[in-house]
Amino acid sequence: MTMNRKSFLTSFAGAIGAAALCDFSLPSLAEAQEKSRVPSKSTRIRDIEMFPYSLPMKEHFKIALGTEIGADNILVRLRTEDGVIGYGEASPYSPVTGETQQSDIAMGKSLEPFIRGKDAFSLARIVAEMESFTPGNGSIKAALETALWDVCGKVTGQPICHLLGAYRDSFETDLTVGIDTPQVMAEKARGVVQQGFKAVKIKVGEAPAPDIERIRAVREAVGPKIKLRIDANQGWSPSDCVHVLRAVAEQQLQLCEQPVVYWDWAGLRFIRESVGTPIMVDESVHIAHDAIVGIRENAMDMINIKLMKCGGILQAVRIAQVADAANIKCMLGCMDETRVGLTAAAHVVASQKNVEFADLDAFLFLATDPVIGGMEVRDGTVYMPQGPGLGLDVDPAFMAKLRAA
Ligand SMILES: [Mg+2]
Repeated sequence: MTMNRKSFLTSFAGAIGAAALCDFSLPSLAEAQEKSRVPSKSTRIRDIEMFPYSLPMKEHFKIALGTEIGADNILVRLRTEDGVIGYGEASPYSPVTGETQQSDIAMGKSLEPFIRGKDAFSLARIVAEMESFTPGNGSIKAALETALWDVCGKVTGQPICHLLGAYRDSFETDLTVGIDTPQVMAEKARGVVQQGFKAVKIKVGEAPAPDIERIRAVREAVGPKIKLRIDANQGWSPSDCVHVLRAVAEQQLQLCEQPVVYWDWAGLRFIRESVGTPIMVDESVHIAHDAIVGIRENAMDMINIKLMKCGGILQAVRIAQVADAANIKCMLGCMDETRVGLTAAAHVVASQKNVEFADLDAFLFLATDPVIGGMEVRDGTVYMPQGPGLGLDVDPAFMAKLRAA
């Protein structure tokens, strides 16, 4: 049916008349405000607690920056005046962010005055004040900010990704294989595929010749259909990288992550101009301004965003948005978080259209999974929790063993 302006206005008037007959009146602004008001709960933060803990890994994990044997993390627990609890997690990794568990506890104490007594819903202001107090220290800032989001979600009854604007409720993650002999890496990669993962990330960056053998062995083991990503963790020179990527040009790598030292934008640009494999930066981009530098330098195809590097969900979203404005796709990656920190990262993936890749696998390497609920991984797919806030609880048995710093 076509409708001209006159018939539209006639039917519009008719609809208003019908609404009046049925008493479909719009609520007044005052009524709407009354209905939307958070039910008489104080959302001011009363308690801030930080619990350091160490979790061993199931087996040693080697990357170009060193060998990891466990995670030394911090659980943050906030409590509002009305008893709403919010959780967040820091997983400091000094080679990338300059933080340790001890330094994060010390900085966390210094950041407490920006949070205690403040309304959790003034989150953006709290984050800005923490940023003014200190640059960097992304892991402890991310833990504190995550806990604020958890509170806001629980008070409103919404998952964090709904507060950010939901885009997807499930997505693919890869599983990473650490540096080892080509044979061992091929065997482990085959195991990853058998677990249902459609994407495998392998660590390289030791030296060009063995790295070429690793890539070839893993591709042969997983077959042509699996997405194969490599991450050199800054281990190569620009010419090393070009040599390797040309040697494995037939292996159909989906992307090559952080081939050279983080500050070498010219080297990244040289690599991009020399080979066809998409170049993803990780350690080169901590915050949104770094993304702008990479865009100006024409030195990257993709960005691996991590909450522990950037300092929290707001900054992660900012990086994704800056990247999107330059037609650059992003990944959400991780350090050694449990599913507390990983679920926070998953909420960013769930809310940002151009975050098309995820590497949220750290919990699979840890010997303990202290989370009830939270994101779940089945057959390589991450499923978002439906509960409010982060959508998880910390296992009471695990919590009972922790001592606040
Ligand atoms: Mg990386």
